Amino acid sequence: MEFEVVIGLEVHVQLNTKTKMFCSCPTSFADEPNKNTCPTCLALPGALPVINEEAVKKAMMFGWATEATINKKSIFNRKNYFYPDLPKGYQISQFEIPIVERGRLFIDLEDGSKKEIGITRAHLEEDAGKNIHEGSISKVDLNRAGTPLLEIVSEPDIRSSDEAVAYLKKLHAIVRYLDISDANMQEGSFRCDANVSIRPKGDEKLYTRVEIKNLNSFRFIQRAIEYEVQRQIEAWEDGVYDQEVVQETRLFDTQKGVTRSMRGKEESADYRYFPDPDLLPLVIPDEFFEQTRDIPELPDQKKDRFIEEFGIKPYDAALIASSKETARYFEQMMQRGISAKNAVTWLTVELAARLNKAGIDIENSPVDSATLAKLIARIEDKTISAKAAKDVLDYLMEHRVDVDQAIDELGLKQISDSGAIEAMIDQILQANEDKVAEYKAGKEKLFGFFVGQVMKASKGKADPKLVNELLRKKLS
Ligand code: ADP
Ligand code: MG
Ligand code: ZN
Repeated sequence: MEFEVVIGLEVHVQLNTKTKMFCSCPTSFADEPNKNTCPTCLALPGALPVINEEAVKKAMMFGWATEATINKKSIFNRKNYFYPDLPKGYQISQFEIPIVERGRLFIDLEDGSKKEIGITRAHLEEDAGKNIHEGSISKVDLNRAGTPLLEIVSEPDIRSSDEAVAYLKKLHAIVRYLDISDANMQEGSFRCDANVSIRPKGDEKLYTRVEIKNLNSFRFIQRAIEYEVQRQIEAWEDGVYDQEVVQETRLFDTQKGVTRSMRGKEESADYRYFPDPDLLPLVIPDEFFEQTRDIPELPDQKKDRFIEEFGIKPYDAALIASSKETARYFEQMMQRGISAKNAVTWLTVELAARLNKAGIDIENSPVDSATLAKLIARIEDKTISAKAAKDVLDYLMEHRVDVDQAIDELGLKQISDSGAIEAMIDQILQANEDKVAEYKAGKEKLFGFFVGQVMKASKGKADPKLVNELLRKKLS
């Protein structure tokens, strides 16, 4: 039997506001434990929450970016559960009327086509604190308690682990472009839960889903989904689907690469949601509503513009636009009048490989956009060969010097003086009279041999195009 994979993703994005969702404590966790707290986020009796306008604005910007409905009136609810890192005994969240509903984004598929993924809703809520376990003692740090989160829930429109990763990468890029979150996965400001089920191909109904929690890298998400799909298919094929695939929460064991049952899945009734009586419904004034429409250029638009403006390939444009920092770097390079094709190659292949090897992000690249553009300009004006430029780039990764100085220090200046090259050619031809005779008798593939000899004699510095031209002239 053939199966279809059905995936829906829930992503918690930590909004990068200065202060918490319902109080004016700073949203910084690096400080001493429990320093950034107040009566409200400590849940002391009588303290009242006040909605953070900046968080509301950022949620709305996300709504505009995903062509969603933004509810001018939304409601905050209490989601009740007990856990030591949740001081109130409930989390303030949104339930029946979230601020954002029915959005969508597009992912790019392998074959170059686009696929629409529905966004069911995006709602505002507060984060919990952190429990720290030290041997037999557990401690609670409430610095994070009350930090604003935007929970973004997708429709079950995703059909493979590749599509899931493409969706998350697009979502990641969008929130970074909007500058509503730093979306750092390692630090937990972009956290994903994956809901996974299978069904016989052609079947329309949804089968039992499991929810996999704690996925903090794209690679783990991919592996966790692939494992879980395989587990469910095997259970079906072994005739134990009903026993082994139950609605539950599972955890991904990154060491063993397997998912394991953590607990039965709560139903929403378990949380006894009700509107928070301490908070009036959130009503967005018309003027504020209109102001939030003004959002920056998004990755898809940037990609289209790069193709249009610079004539680069869709694949390259998508790759560059997928990261705000890479896109900015590329645009800065393009202001320096170099060819777009060279800019793409040197950015996405040469520089990317070196940064990757050194474990450095593009924001912290030791070679800035002006420097890389200048290096390319030196290839284009024939000061150095493309091959020599790779050595110069290696050098620039380690030394903070100007491009021309690096070329000097490495002695890589290209020889483009035809007199000097001709002299070298004469020498090579004299030393290889027998081969010249063979060439003239028709063994044309010896041409490459002569080019090689001249390049060697120049220590790789002769302009290869000029060598070719002059050699042809001499040998004809
Ligand atoms: P909860 O908040 O209890 O996790 P939701 O109804 O909000 O439940 O759904 C959460 C996610 O699960 C959504 O992204 C939705 O698309 C996805 N989902 C729902 N049913 C299925 C299913 N059968 N298979 C895969 N994903 C599903
Ligand atoms: Mg869930
Ligand atoms: Zn506080």
